[in-house]
Formats: sequence, C-alpha cells, structure tokens
Amino acid sequence: MTDAVVLVGGKGTRLGKLTNEVPKPMISFHGEPFLEYLLIQIAVLPFERIFLIGGYLIDQIRERFDGRYINGVEVLVIEDLDCTGTLNALRFLPCSLSEKFYLFNGDTYFNFTDITSEVERFFVNTENCSIYAVFVDDSSRYGLLDVDKNLVVGFHEKSSGAQQGYINSGISVLHRGVVEKAIELGGKSLERDLYPALSKQKSLLLIKSAIKNVYDFGVPEAHENFPSFLSNTISGGFLLCDRDNTLNSDPGYVYDPDQSELCIENILAIKKLCSDRRLIVVSNQSGIERGYFSEKQSNIFYRYLKLKLLRQNLTSWGYYYCPHKPDKLSNPICQCRKPNIGLFNQVSRCWNVEKNKSIMAGDSGTDRMFAIRAGIDFCYFNCK
Ligand SMILES: [Mg+2]
Ligand SMILES: [Zn+2]
Repeated sequence: MTDAVVLVGGKGTRLGKLTNEVPKPMISFHGEPFLEYLLIQIAVLPFERIFLIGGYLIDQIRERFDGRYINGVEVLVIEDLDCTGTLNALRFLPCSLSEKFYLFNGDTYFNFTDITSEVERFFVNTENCSIYAVFVDDSSRYGLLDVDKNLVVGFHEKSSGAQQGYINSGISVLHRGVVEKAIELGGKSLERDLYPALSKQKSLLLIKSAIKNVYDFGVPEAHENFPSFLSNTISGGFLLCDRDNTLNSDPGYVYDPDQSELCIENILAIKKLCSDRRLIVVSNQSGIERGYFSEKQSNIFYRYLKLKLLRQNLTSWGYYYCPHKPDKLSNPICQCRKPNIGLFNQVSRCWNVEKNKSIMAGDSGTDRMFAIRAGIDFCYFNCK
C-alpha cells in the first residue's frame, strides 16, 4: 500500500486579502475549493489514503475533507502543531504511514499526462527519494534544478531572467526512514534542508515529467488566469458508468474483491468509448445502509476495481455512489439513488460534463432512466 501526503499549510501571503479568512488551498474556483480539484488529480493513482497536513485555518479543511473518500481514496486531515516548516510538519503523520509515500504541494495543480506509466512507476520500489521535475522554457517564477543524468545535484534560487530548465513540480516520492532521520537531525524544511542534503549525497532521483500544467496559483496574476485554465481541464465528454454487472461481475451486494471479476468484454468496449471521454463510476450501493457492508468496504472494493482498470489502461476519475436503501418511506429525500440524478449533479460540481459528448453506460433500466433524466445518451452493457 502507498499513501499520499498533501501539504496544505500555505498561508498564501502573496495573495493578500484572499487568504485572510480562507487557507490558500480552499480558495474557490467555479464554486469549489482549489483543493477539491487537486485531490481529484491525485486520487487517480491507486493510493490507499491521502493525508492533508497543515496548520493555518486547518479547521476549514478538516470540516470539508476529513473522513471523505475521493475516487475510493480515504482522506484524513492532520494538524501541524508546530508550523515550523514543510519537513517538520511530517512528524505529525501517523506511524501507520506507508514506508514509501508521495508528497504533493497543496497549492500546485498538475495533470499526469501518461497515467499508465505513472501506475508502473507507482509499483516500482527504489530506496531513493525522488522529485518530479518539469521542463519549462521560462523558469523566472521558479528555482531551477541542477541535473546530472537521473540525479538532482543542486538547487538554484529563483532566477530573474527567462531561463530554460527543469523545475520542481511540487511532487516527490519520499521514504519514511529518510524523512524521520532528517527530522531527528534537526531539519525543518524540505526545500532548504532535506532536498539539498539528499542532492549532495547523490541520492535524490530526478523523474522527468510525466506531468504537465504545473500551476502554482500563489501569485495574483496566476490566480487570475487559473479559472480559464481550469475550465479547459474539467470540461469535455464523460462516460458515466454503472459498476456492478457493467464493469465487474455481480453476485449481489458485492464488496469482497475475491467474489468479483472484471467484465472483460465490456471493458474492451468501454475503453473505446473512453478514447475521448473520461470514465466516472456512478453506482447504487444500498448495501451500505442495509448494513451488508460499510462505506469503507465499498471503497476498498472500488479501489481494487480501479486498479484492475488501470492495469487495462483505463483510468477511472471518480467513484460516486448512493449509500441509501430504496425504501421511499425511510428515505423520502434521497436524490442520489439512480434513476434520480443526484450523482450526476455531484459529478457536475467539479466537472463540466458536456452532455452532447457524454454517455451513461449500464446494465439496467434504472441506468437508462438516469441517462434520460440527465439528458445524455445511454449505452447498454451486460456482464455475461
Ligand atoms: Mg448494475
Ligand atoms: Zn441516496
């Protein structure tokens, strides 16, 4: 298992008034906080958990994210009680943190360009820590990395001119043992203490960008341009897809990964539909409220499924589910059980679903009705 850690402690002082009452990652774009969009990008990989760690106005972040699941990944909020630096903050992570973990900047947006190769990398174990680097034509807003083959051997301060070169994307892969040792030695900051020390020891690997669009909105002009950049990224065609008996075989209220397999013929067709659409899973999971399995178990099952799909070169961008029983008397207000379109509305909060390019795929009349009500085409699948 591998966890992700996101540093959400940035005060965003360069943004002035914007961050007086709101922590920087909670600044809203198109009605949702920045962090929501970032976590969607992070949760594409099959992480088990995402830890959000910060101090400044952390209660707002806790209220919104703690205990949620995003694309099957559990999100947990941790308070940095010291606020003395990005390295020191990591001491507050639980000892159950995975030995290898990914670290993300909570104020830097990115896209993985080649998720298949990211997934391969995800399962490769090396002893060394590494930094994801991005090649830029104009590094004036960033500090350049000194690169020697596959190693980062030095760091430069922000340059004044427009130089070409590799910059730190804000993503790194770290090892708990290395981090603990650096904290023991009195290190406080990743950028000033840990990374320079590792690069001196020639043990900081460079990962050449399988990512693009590194976007730090920490300065006012970047903040102004971000909404239109984001619109492009979140708009397009979607394949909303039922789960049970469409993607995986369904023995009934399935939650045990050993009891279900991929519907492999369906997967081939779904892959075709996803050549120009993003896959998002929308599922009725009344087994949760019936007490057959927990929300956590439902998400664990989905994570197995997500991983199997990734291995088929199919990326799932979300898992949206209704946990409620269909009984209208006990749940008069549930809008999320298909064929109601609450799940469609949930998806639409962070994605601009272009209806004329989007399709619902499923095995039942309920899915078909959902498609009609949402105003998108329907494609019938059945797992045989
Ligand atoms: Mg189904
Ligand atoms: Zn519901």
